[in-house]
Amino acid sequence: MNRTIARRLAANAYALRIPRKAFSSQAPGNDVSSVPTCPSHEHEVKQNLKNDDKLYDVAIVGGGMVGMALACSLARMPLTKQLNVAIIDSNPALQNKLIIKKEDPPDPRVSTVTPATISLFNDVGAWEYVLQNRHAFFDKMQVWDYTGLGYTRYEARDINKEALGCVVENKVLHYALLSCMQNTEFQKTIYSSRLTSMAVHRSSSSTRADSTSSTTLHNQGNLAKLDLSDGSSLYAKLVVGSDGGKSRVRELAGFKTTGWSYPQNAIICTVEHTVENQCAWQRFLPAGPIALLPIGDKFSNIVWTMSPKEASDCNSMKEDDFIKAVNHALDYGYGPHPKSSLLGNGDIFSWLRADATSSAKESFEIPPKVVKLASARMVFPLSLKHANDYASKRVALIGDAAHTVHPLAGQGVNMGFEDAFALSKVIAEGIAVGTDIGEVSLLKKYEAERKPANIMMMAVLDGFQKAYSVDFGPLNVLRAAAFNGAHYISPLKRSIISYASGEQKLPLFY
Ligand SMILES: Cc1cc2nc3c(=O)[nH]c(=O)nc-3n(C[C@H](O)[C@H](O)[C@H](O)COP(=O)(O)OP(=O)(O)OC[C@H]3O[C@@H](n4cnc5c(N)ncnc54)[C@H](O)[C@@H]3O)c2cc1C
Repeated sequence: MNRTIARRLAANAYALRIPRKAFSSQAPGNDVSSVPTCPSHEHEVKQNLKNDDKLYDVAIVGGGMVGMALACSLARMPLTKQLNVAIIDSNPALQNKLIIKKEDPPDPRVSTVTPATISLFNDVGAWEYVLQNRHAFFDKMQVWDYTGLGYTRYEARDINKEALGCVVENKVLHYALLSCMQNTEFQKTIYSSRLTSMAVHRSSSSTRADSTSSTTLHNQGNLAKLDLSDGSSLYAKLVVGSDGGKSRVRELAGFKTTGWSYPQNAIICTVEHTVENQCAWQRFLPAGPIALLPIGDKFSNIVWTMSPKEASDCNSMKEDDFIKAVNHALDYGYGPHPKSSLLGNGDIFSWLRADATSSAKESFEIPPKVVKLASARMVFPLSLKHANDYASKRVALIGDAAHTVHPLAGQGVNMGFEDAFALSKVIAEGIAVGTDIGEVSLLKKYEAERKPANIMMMAVLDGFQKAYSVDFGPLNVLRAAAFNGAHYISPLKRSIISYASGEQKLPLFY
């Protein structure tokens, strides 16, 4: 028999022999002898763990959108659905069924999800739960700046698609992933608690990272030991940090980061119009961009970036004054409406227009007026942060724990979803060949797949943030040329749309 096939069969047998008994129903006090471990470590683990220790294949620290995407993907794949998984997060949304009343206005925390994310959600069966709730597909987008020198309109039909993206409340995305996972026989235990300390055994030496002096280092068993804020402890072959931008896992595992804070905050809220908004709008203002995103019915979501002082002022303004400020920012405020092109009619691009996209003929439009504030305003500080490594022995980072980006292009959680699905596939590959899923060589495959893609996206977003934060004559003209180029040059336009959709890996002409 072919050796690879033989290895796979042996590995599958290993995966399949994991007892179906759900640890969730018996924790605390799991049966140590039933812990699924890679055969080479099994004896060692049994020797060093007490009977009441709680043992898992994977501990997902942080059950936000990205952590739940990983759990959902693991629950759905044939090789990984046998795994025994702990999810650690004190967020009550993990315990309670979300009740979404259609008559309530949308929550201000929304995400623009790309076609690539929609396709990943479809693959694991989570998108159907999104479709049962409020969501807003959009097929048009207009981007312009306050100088009045240029604008770009994008349309889904430019790339033969039906939508450029979909705006969904974060709580709906979370609920969809949670429901999808719960409708499987996946062996998961949800700990309504927080990670406080972690000890990871690394072959010859041990790394200790405690916040409490009482934690004893688990220095012999070949597992990571996690201590939680409720006093409980658990062990896992693999710890995944999906605990957001201030990741405790990242800190405890000693991953270094690179990054900086932007001198900007984002103010977000839900607003209402008299007509339905079906387009995503973004205007670059001197202090940062303002986006008006459709979120169904007559509602839109505002993400407005500005200096921390301005954000604080806007947050405390009277409602009527805030609405006036929003309409001002989306219409005639700060500068005139753009004409059709920098040089009057765009003729300098005529040589590239033989194959013009249909949206190149679309003229500039003014967004629908905002008439009412429909939620509280929320303010977020903005930063760029990137973990220098995403993986070490027994630890991997995904989502904002690995990278935090400026929200100007709505890419942050989309990058995180791609991490989660990529990591779950690498875990499945490890199981298929009988590798310990906490092995660094396996986890580095995940890092090799996601790190270059994330760095590229971060560089593009940071470049945009910088290019559009400067009010300087020559740069304004260059920006206008970029708007016009993106509006009229078909290959460039298609390339931008495909890259932003998550369907093209590099922002290059094709
Ligand atoms: C204003 C704004 C607008 C945005 N718009 C978009 C958009 O349109 N599209 C887009 O793609 N992205 C957008 N983003 C980015 C997106 O919100 C983030 O990328 C996303 O929320 C990250 O998800 P996450 O699950 O990685 O982390 P988080 O959402 O931060 O979740 C982390 C989870 O970990 C838990 N946790 C934290 N510490 C611990 C601990 N010690 N122990 C256990 N659990 C812990 C928390 O309770 C939380 O549930 C936006 C961001 C901002 C600020």
